[in-house]
Amino acid sequence: MEIRHVTVIGAGTMGNGIAHVFAQNGIPVVLYDVKKEFIDRGLATITGNLDRQVKKALLTEAQKGETLSRISSHADLAASVESADLVIEAATEDRSVKKKIFASIDASAPSGAILASNTSSISITEIAAVTRRPSQVIGMHFMNPVPVMKLVEVIRGLATSDETAKAVLAACAALGKTPVEVNDYPGFVSNRVLLPMLNEAMYCVMEGVATPESIDTVMKLGMGHPMGPLTLADFIGLDVCLSIMNVLYEGFGDSKYRPCPLLRKMVAAGHLGRKTGKGFYTYPA
Ligand code: NAD
Repeated sequence: MEIRHVTVIGAGTMGNGIAHVFAQNGIPVVLYDVKKEFIDRGLATITGNLDRQVKKALLTEAQKGETLSRISSHADLAASVESADLVIEAATEDRSVKKKIFASIDASAPSGAILASNTSSISITEIAAVTRRPSQVIGMHFMNPVPVMKLVEVIRGLATSDETAKAVLAACAALGKTPVEVNDYPGFVSNRVLLPMLNEAMYCVMEGVATPESIDTVMKLGMGHPMGPLTLADFIGLDVCLSIMNVLYEGFGDSKYRPCPLLRKMVAAGHLGRKTGKGFYTYPA
């Protein structure tokens, strides 16, 4: 099955990046969010990122215009998915929010459409179970920032068909991305390995082992990481980090995944990292 029309649900950090890369690669995208102002904010981010690509001579002014002209929006979820071959959900990392969205898009999207989730950790099998087409449900876990990062973790739920996986792998390749297939377990591979490290760095801050700057320097200069774990946690969003740790903790029932109390406290205070201007570091507006 060839993917000719894509709908992206959620215009936040990941949703606008996913819309950007499909549109830049010639595929018309409908971008949906619960409020028009969120869609406008997503479009402003895409425009800013395209401007940066033009400045770096990676894109011409004309290609920027063509990319933006391929992105449209509707106020209504049903209208947003009615022509889609592939719907990619990139809404808030919350099981009940995602299940509601999947039940709605299953009711309105064409029967042949593939429904994908960009979830960082929630079970694809569980999400698929609220639809009447579990064989056409799959995980497409893009990495942040989407226009830059090459990897897409492709997650098969228990019922995902070979045909669905094949179409999604081809769509990733058409975007110039490298897809890697993994099976459906909490956190998949990327976040099962990454998040416990970020969480441990937060314990080091909480216990006064070292400052965030020192911890990040140890991991950058000592381990060759391009970005320190606390800078990365701020970049991902501390609310997203907490949600993923909770999924790992509940999914495996193992205390090694317990979220750091400092992470819980910072999220409760609304210090979510880069997106709120304050996390382990502060960010000027
Ligand atoms: P975000 O908070 O930046 O954006 C989420 C968007 O979803 C918001 O604009 C919100 O209004 C919208 N939304 C909420 N409920 C909705 C609904 N019912 N219908 C439509 N839109 C709705 O979050 P994000 O960082 O973009 O994360 C989105 C998804 O991508 C999550 O599942 C997250 O785990 C995953 N993810 C995040 C990262 C990252 O680094 N931030 C990386 C990979 C995957």
